[in-house]
Amino acid sequence: MSACKENDEIQFGDTPSRVKEWLNCKLSENKQKVYVARGWCKRCGICVAFCPVKALERDEEGVPYVLNDICISCGTCEIICPDHAIVVSELKAKKVRKK
Ligand code: SF4
Ligand code: SF4
Repeated sequence: MSACKENDEIQFGDTPSRVKEWLNCKLSENKQKVYVARGWCKRCGICVAFCPVKALERDEEGVPYVLNDICISCGTCEIICPDHAIVVSELKAKKVRKK
């Protein structure tokens, strides 16, 4: 797989194959427990409010980011995001391994 481009982001209207490429790239980086698609996030804050351990904070634009040391990879944020803009990397890896 080719190296991930820095600050690579998906946007509304991107093709499924483009989204898959972005996701695979993020998961292969394996740096964060949670990845947020900035172009899909509407900055509603629901994920931040529902995280059971307060592992999500918001940047200056209101987009959430994870505090890796606190996140327990429970998956709540991924399930609850109305825009499918969050991926919990450990859960995604498990799903891929099962296939
Ligand atoms: S719930 Fe989804 S759309 Fe709302 S702030 Fe979180 S990632 Fe963004
Ligand atoms: S996976 Fe769970 S603990 Fe981690 S940021 Fe999401 S809701 Fe919080």
